[in-house]
Amino acid sequence: MKVIVKYCEEYNLEQVKSKIKESLDSLGGVSNLIKPNSKVFIKCNCVGPFSASYGITTHPIFVKAVIQIVKEVTNDITVGDNPAVKDLVLTLKKNGIYDVIVEEGVNILDNKDQMKIYNPSYKVYNVFDVSRGMIENDVLINLPKLKTHSLAYITCAEKNLFGFIYGLNKSAWHVKASNQLEFGEAINDLYGAILDSYKDKTIINICDGIIGLEGEGPSTGGKAKQANTILTSLDAVSLDRVAVEIMGLNYKKSFITNIASSRGYGEGDISKIEVLGDEIVNYHFLEPKDSLSNVGLRLTRVKLLKPMLLEHPVIDHDKCIKCGECTRICPPKTMVIEKGKYPHLNTKKCIRCWCCSEVCPQNAISKSKRPIIGRIVLK
Ligand code: SF4
Ligand code: SF4
Repeated sequence: MKVIVKYCEEYNLEQVKSKIKESLDSLGGVSNLIKPNSKVFIKCNCVGPFSASYGITTHPIFVKAVIQIVKEVTNDITVGDNPAVKDLVLTLKKNGIYDVIVEEGVNILDNKDQMKIYNPSYKVYNVFDVSRGMIENDVLINLPKLKTHSLAYITCAEKNLFGFIYGLNKSAWHVKASNQLEFGEAINDLYGAILDSYKDKTIINICDGIIGLEGEGPSTGGKAKQANTILTSLDAVSLDRVAVEIMGLNYKKSFITNIASSRGYGEGDISKIEVLGDEIVNYHFLEPKDSLSNVGLRLTRVKLLKPMLLEHPVIDHDKCIKCGECTRICPPKTMVIEKGKYPHLNTKKCIRCWCCSEVCPQNAISKSKRPIIGRIVLK
């Protein structure tokens, strides 16, 4: 599998466009990858209504560059995502993609119309309700960000496709698959279902890593990180494997990519990936705090052990504006809020999914210290 690495240090439309075009040329060229008049869906990362400068969402200039390239072969283009809690249009307006959609005269996804997709070779879950407009296309162009993730370790091409699931329905998956390894299996079952839906069609992954996010991603808990990189591949797993190198992280901890590779959904062995373009530079991203090794991932599958082993969310009252977003998304409803008060949680029932931190607009939710037993056992 090929991954094209391109150095690109700023969101300059012409520069970004030429780097993406060069990358697509290395994969056969736009007109070969996308047939004339094809129906194309562009999947951004719009996790929430955050300004593009935060490094959380796909940058509007990046989206504009991709739209203009695709318009060389087709005008049937739809752009969108499934934000966690907020309305899609509001989210797109906040991060600047809405203006791009209007300027370029393309469509906004109707994300509320749902359909079922199936994974014929599933391991745990075989059926998923997803937005129809994300599936019924000839070409899927996946535009992830280069980010670390408190729960998933990294979130890049494959994890970005969790956004096929509508809004708060994503929370239900955190209850069904309530530990990291089960969540990894669920993400891969979903990925297999998406691959099956796009069988005989085209999926192109183009990662916006010009400014990425390090530390407690994927949202306001992380810090924007200049990484000057665009990654392009037809294989999300290979792209994610190279992304781990660019971020300077530990591939063994990138459990979603490891599961994908072991299932044969893509290539996780870096020696078997053909890396073209510019050289891989290690940008030394900060890991999510207390990220788990393989042994830790296995131990924390035991529900009763979690409160003893793992850190829990802590609310910073100086930052919290009592908006209640964290309580709305909390899958087991263990984070609650009373009128006029700060949210509080039952740490015993908390499944450590970090959805609350993902949607907090104020970066008011951080990790507690790891309990002493956890520090000893998971060392
Ligand atoms: S409190 Fe936060 S980490 Fe705990 S279950 Fe709720 S959303 Fe997940
Ligand atoms: S912690 Fe964040 S999401 Fe929760 S109420 Fe406070 S500001 Fe809102």
